[in-house]
Amino acid sequence: MATSGLPGHIDPFATGIWDASRNCGDKRLQAFLPNAGRHYAEERNYDLGPGDRSNVSTLSPWIRHRLVTEAEVVRAVLDIHSYRSAEKFIQEVLWRTYWKGWLELRPAVWDDYRMAVDRWHRELAGDDVLRNRFCKATEGQTGIDCFDAWAAELVEHGYLHNHARMWFASIWIFTLKLPWELGADFFLRFLLDGDPASNTLSWRWVAGIQTPGKTYLARPDNIAKFTVGRWKTTDQLATEAAPVAGLAPPQPIALPSPARLDPSLSTGLLVTDEDCHPESLDIPRNIIRSVTGLVCRRDRSPLAAGELPMAFANSAVTDAVDRAGAWFDCPSIALPEGDAASALMDWVRGHGLRQVVTAYAPVGPTQQRLRQLEIRLAAAGISMVFVQRPWDRVFWPHAVRGFFPFKDRIQGLLGELSLLGS
Ligand SMILES: Cc1cc2nc3c(=O)[nH]c(=O)nc-3n(C[C@H](O)[C@H](O)[C@H](O)COP(=O)(O)OP(=O)(O)OC[C@H]3O[C@@H](n4cnc5c(N)ncnc54)[C@H](O)[C@@H]3O)c2cc1C
Repeated sequence: MATSGLPGHIDPFATGIWDASRNCGDKRLQAFLPNAGRHYAEERNYDLGPGDRSNVSTLSPWIRHRLVTEAEVVRAVLDIHSYRSAEKFIQEVLWRTYWKGWLELRPAVWDDYRMAVDRWHRELAGDDVLRNRFCKATEGQTGIDCFDAWAAELVEHGYLHNHARMWFASIWIFTLKLPWELGADFFLRFLLDGDPASNTLSWRWVAGIQTPGKTYLARPDNIAKFTVGRWKTTDQLATEAAPVAGLAPPQPIALPSPARLDPSLSTGLLVTDEDCHPESLDIPRNIIRSVTGLVCRRDRSPLAAGELPMAFANSAVTDAVDRAGAWFDCPSIALPEGDAASALMDWVRGHGLRQVVTAYAPVGPTQQRLRQLEIRLAAAGISMVFVQRPWDRVFWPHAVRGFFPFKDRIQGLLGELSLLGS
C-alpha cells in the first residue's frame, strides 16, 4: 500500500502547486519520475484522499493543456525506467491519446453529446423533481457520504482520482438514475483536466454505451478497499447496472491531412488552451511576426465553468503566449475572450498578417471555434494553417477499435517516433 513521504512526493494541494505554468508541470514531472515504474503499476488504483496523491502523477491538467506534452513525459520516463517497468504508466498516458484519436475518427459522438446536454438543461429548467435530484448530486447532498465528498472535492480542487471518477459516474448513473450527459457536463465544468474526449468517452464507457452492453458498477467492497477503508457504503448503492441507451460507436471517418505553411507569408501564431507548448511545434522560428492566445473553456457547457479550471486555462495560455513571444522573438499579446473573432481580426490587421498558424485542435469546442475563425479569415483573404504533432499523426489512425489492439501497437509506434529503441 502506498504512503506519503515517498521519494518525489509532492502534496498537490500545498500552496500554489496547481500553478498553470510549464515550469510547474515540468517540476511535477521530474518529482514523479522515480515513482513511474513498478510503484505506479502496483499502487495507482488507491484513492488515498485529497491530501495524498503520491501514488499517481496528478499531471493531467498540464498534459491535457499540453503545457507538458505526452512525448516529453514518455521520453523522461524512458530515460530512467525500462519500457517494461514503466509500461503501465505509459499505457495510461496513451489512454488520453487513444480517446482523442477515437473521437477524432467519430466527431458525431461529441455533437450528439453536446445536443443531449443542451436538451437536458432545458429539461431541468421545467422539471422540479429532476432539478432537485440534480442539485442534490452536484451540491453533494445525496446522503451517500463518499459521493457527496467527491462532489465537494471536485468543485474545491478541480481533481478526482481516476477510481473516484469511475465510482462517481457509476453512482450518478445507476444509483441516482441521473442522465449521464449531465454528469459528464458537471465534470467538464469543474475538472482542471476537463477534456472532451477523455471525459465524454469515459462516461459513455461507465454507462455501457462505449463498449456496448458492458457497464461499470461501483461496489461497496471495492470502494472500501481502494479508499483504504475511508468510505463504507454498505447497502446504499445500486446492485445492478443495466446499459443505458445511447449512440452506438459510428464508423470511423477520415483523419485530417497535414497542412502546409507558406514561409513567404507574414505569419502570426495563435495559441489555444488545447496546446500550450508552441516551442515544440513544427514551425520555423523566423517566420512568426506576432503571437496571441485564445481560451475556449466557456464554450464547453451551457452552464458556467468553475473558477479553478477557468483560471487554469487562462494562465496556461498566458504562460504559453509569453514563452512563444520569447522563443519566436516577436511581440505577444493576450486576446480577450469576449468577441474573439473581432479581436482576432484586429490583431491580424494590426500586424499586417497574411497567414495564421495554430496547433491542430482535436474535436471539441476549440476546434469548432477555430473553424469559425478560419471562415472569417478566409473571407479576408487570410489563410489559417493547422499544424499537427507527429504524436497525434502516428497514434490517432490506430484508434479504430478498442483500446486493447491499440495498446499492442504502443511500443512499435513509440519506436517510429524515435522515443524507443527498436
Ligand atoms: C468518468 C471519467 C471521466 C474522466 N474525465 C477526464 C477528463 O475530463 N480529463 C482527463 O484528462 N481525464 C479524464 N479521465 C481519465 C483519468 O481519470 C484522468 O486522466 C486521471 O485520473 C488523471 O490523474 P493523474 O494525472 O494523476 O493520472 P495518472 O494515473 O498519473 O496517469 C498519468 C497520465 O495518464 C493519463 N491518463 C491516466 N488515466 C487516464 C484515463 N483513464 N483516460 C485518459 N487519460 C488517462 C493522464 O494524462 C494522466 O495525467 C476520466 C476518467 C473517468 C472514469
